[in-house]
Amino acid sequence: MSSLDIRVDQRPDLTPDERLAEILANPGFGTHFTDHMLTVEWTPEEGWHGARIGAYGPLTLDPATAVLHYAQEIFEGMKAYRREDGSVWTFRPEANGQRLARSSQRLALPELPVEDFVATVDALVGVDERWVPEAAGEKSLYVRPFMFASEAFLGVRPAKHVTYMVIASPAGAYFSKGPTPITLWLTEEYTRAGRGGMGAAKTGGNYASSLVAQQEAMGQGCDQVVFLDGQEGRYVEELGGMNLYFVFKDGRIVTPELGTILEGITRASIIELLGKMGHSVEERRFDIREWQEGVTSGDIVEVFACGTAAVVTPVGSLKWDGGETPEVAEAGELTMRVRQALVDIQYGRAEDTFGWMHRV
Ligand code: PMP
Repeated sequence: MSSLDIRVDQRPDLTPDERLAEILANPGFGTHFTDHMLTVEWTPEEGWHGARIGAYGPLTLDPATAVLHYAQEIFEGMKAYRREDGSVWTFRPEANGQRLARSSQRLALPELPVEDFVATVDALVGVDERWVPEAAGEKSLYVRPFMFASEAFLGVRPAKHVTYMVIASPAGAYFSKGPTPITLWLTEEYTRAGRGGMGAAKTGGNYASSLVAQQEAMGQGCDQVVFLDGQEGRYVEELGGMNLYFVFKDGRIVTPELGTILEGITRASIIELLGKMGHSVEERRFDIREWQEGVTSGDIVEVFACGTAAVVTPVGSLKWDGGETPEVAEAGELTMRVRQALVDIQYGRAEDTFGWMHRV
């Protein structure tokens, strides 16, 4: 018997609309891309120029293209949401634009003005609007702006030709059956960032260095990896792709301070949301022992992770070499309240008192 897994990946029998409907019914994550892509070029002489939207498709790159060798690259991740009335909105796009600008400073890349960032996202989402899934079921269009050293040369210096692009991909609900607690693995061998490093930048290298630790986590039967600080190996930083929150029995809420972690837009929004709910958040160094002992003693009653992809995800337990915290089977009350409040603003089901939503 043949062991080939033959799939049907072209459906000439379907009209383009039927094919799109099929994808949007079950988009998954990061595998289907919209019809278009947006490109802008930069050189020191001309600045940003040549902005255009064309058909989505492969790039032809010289083998000496600098990004392939020296990883001078940054990116962003954000979503466009469709409301019940059909309108399409993005969540705090200026915050992503500001973060891209901070990342570009760290990677010696040119800065794209925030208003241009927002305009490029609006333009791509606008032409590919039919790719934004309907409001039901927490689907969205994931938008991926990125910038890379496109000059062909070998040598370690900032590139003199840089390309900025925006692509987009429909995304299904992260949890099909409601939020389920995830299991975390504490890596004591690998770190993600050091003092003076790139931890606060959204750059590919940070993710490349996290892969082996994420592999280790999966080998331990866990969903995600937890990184500690690179200097003392004792303070909790973040997960491979999410920030963390700890809720204490006495009402205190702690999130690791900024510095070497990615400044999550969800993290920042949750600080403001909790403030409105009457809770203040301590942004401080958070010792791993405080986590291990707090959950075990019952002082910490909820732990959750947050980020664009999963919004807010309850943490069920933390495992490490030689131990684990007691397992929490269900999402905590505050975790679910924060999650709902955010999702309601994003889909326009609650009043946007913060002015976070941007109509495309
Ligand atoms: N930390 C890391 C390392 C991430 O990749 C992400 C996802 N962008 C986050 C935190 C969460 O950031 P945001 O809330 O902006 O998605």
